[in-house]
Amino acid sequence: RELTIEDLPGVGDATAEKLRESGYDDIMTIAVASPKDLAEISGIAEGAAIKIINAARKYADVGNFETGEEILNKRKEIKKLTTGSSNLDNLLGGGLETQSITEFFGEFGSGKTQIMHQLAVNATMPVEKNGFDSDVLIIDTENTFRPERIIQMARAKDLDPDQTLERIHVARAYNSHHQILLAEKAADMAREYRIRLLIVDSLTSHFRSEYVGRGSLAERQQLLNRHMHDLLKFGTIYNAVIAVTNQVSANPAVFFGDPMNPIGGNIVGHTATFRIYLRKAKAGKRIARLIDSPYLPEGETVITITESGITD
Ligand code: ADP
Ligand code: MG
Repeated sequence: RELTIEDLPGVGDATAEKLRESGYDDIMTIAVASPKDLAEISGIAEGAAIKIINAARKYADVGNFETGEEILNKRKEIKKLTTGSSNLDNLLGGGLETQSITEFFGEFGSGKTQIMHQLAVNATMPVEKNGFDSDVLIIDTENTFRPERIIQMARAKDLDPDQTLERIHVARAYNSHHQILLAEKAADMAREYRIRLLIVDSLTSHFRSEYVGRGSLAERQQLLNRHMHDLLKFGTIYNAVIAVTNQVSANPAVFFGDPMNPIGGNIVGHTATFRIYLRKAKAGKRIARLIDSPYLPEGETVITITESGITD
């Protein structure tokens, strides 16, 4: 039988429940946790947390070094999904990567939802046309999914609009817990359909409106953290692109430079591998800026939103 977290000495039912709620639901996750985080989340003393972590390290296979060659081989399975704009694809080194989370953040109307629609259409395209020949999951938290827009974009790519719509599966999330639940359920869908793209539009809106005030910030960040890790796990297991959107809030303390900050701060920033900041420009133009990429240079480019979708 596989060990569960209850098998760890010092983890009773109540502690196990708290750990699970915060996303520490297997031995490995606890083995690599920091004692301080674990203590804070489960309400145990830091000394006790250290003992639990040490026990978890004994059971978990933590010390796996891989050679650069092994990692390179794994990375060869990574596929890149086109955004429709070759400018933006180039900025991203070819498109959105599978096995990673790509976050688009920007003000209302900056084009985040438009890009999500385009990615959904592109993922359904045949491999010969640069697509993934895949079904798509969309978790829609703001009720902004529009099948009419999919039809326009599908026609522009010479795709059958009905067939395209059939491959895009949309779930409306009514609150943050529902959103988390839907992300967990995504795996059930992936067993039935070939899913290579999972979209959450928007990642943060429910969290932002439900957890207001300083007192609830820690809980919000914990839940967001867990949600992001669920998404990343899905991306890794199914070799899927994870695309999420995020709003910005103005930081009044910033006097120089751009005062707009993405919601969710470090938690979202650390888990998303690629972050793209969208700004409005003239007419249908948008400026897309790549931020904090692990191996691509920072930079920006211009994309256009038209009736046919996202282009240069
Ligand atoms: P966000 O999700 O960042 O709030 P959206 O993706 O909803 O923003 O972007 C909305 C903008 O997209 C509109 O203001 C408009 O400029 C553009 N847009 C939406 N539909 C079309 C269309 N059919 N043709 C051209 N532009 C469109
Ligand atoms: Mg939107």
